[in-house]
Amino acid sequence: MSSTHPIPPSPGRVSGLEQVRGTIAAACARAGRPPESVTLVAASKTVPAEALVPAIDAGLRVYGENRVQEAQEKWPGLQERFPGLELHLIGPLQSNKARDAVALFDVIHSVDRPSLCRALARQCAAQDRHPRLFIQVNTGAEPQKAGVLPDEADAFVDTCRGVHGLDVRGLMCIPPAGEPPEPHFSTLAKMAARNGLDLLSMGMSGDYATAIEHGATHVRVGSAIFGARAYPAAQPTHP
Ligand SMILES: *Cc1c(COP(=O)(O)O)cnc(C)c1O
Repeated sequence: MSSTHPIPPSPGRVSGLEQVRGTIAAACARAGRPPESVTLVAASKTVPAEALVPAIDAGLRVYGENRVQEAQEKWPGLQERFPGLELHLIGPLQSNKARDAVALFDVIHSVDRPSLCRALARQCAAQDRHPRLFIQVNTGAEPQKAGVLPDEADAFVDTCRGVHGLDVRGLMCIPPAGEPPEPHFSTLAKMAARNGLDLLSMGMSGDYATAIEHGATHVRVGSAIFGARAYPAAQPTHP
């Protein structure tokens, strides 16, 4: 990953937020896109609830967590205090957590297998809640990483929509670490276009400007906003 951004030193502060917003605006300008075409999803894993209050006060409304349990511990209290927050699940989801995920999240970025589709469809119906869904594509075909393989993505999109009736809106990817992300971003953009999907969740702290130039509608940015994580988060691998 091309990592040229300076990581602000203090976890839990929002010292990086203004810079991230500026970088997003500049990337949108370069790409000839309106700034509101990009949603900043603040990746808040490992940031304690109280440390998120300054970010919320600074107008950040959309947050991404990568573990259901951590999100359940942190967010209900914050959502009560600050109505109108939007919560995204950006990490892998086990089918046995589908009920909790559907109850808590507004958007799920990590749909990647038929068993999970079935569990989500059942929970959406049971709870009459319909989180917007992204399908995660393992664009680098990395064995340890979550996501459908690129060759299987078109058929999987059809299955999600046709067989399970899921509200699929877009595609998500995490390019392999240490590789230029551009080919992965452009592959994902082409895949979304040919499947009639409008949304692209791609780009993290090291490469979100590049992702925007390739059409990202959702960038998931953590350390560039909150500082380097104080302790390691769960890796974005397959459950
Ligand atoms: C943590 C995480 C991010 C954000 O990573 P940063 O490099 O800190 O910006 C994005 N996507 C997923 C799936 C993550 O788990």
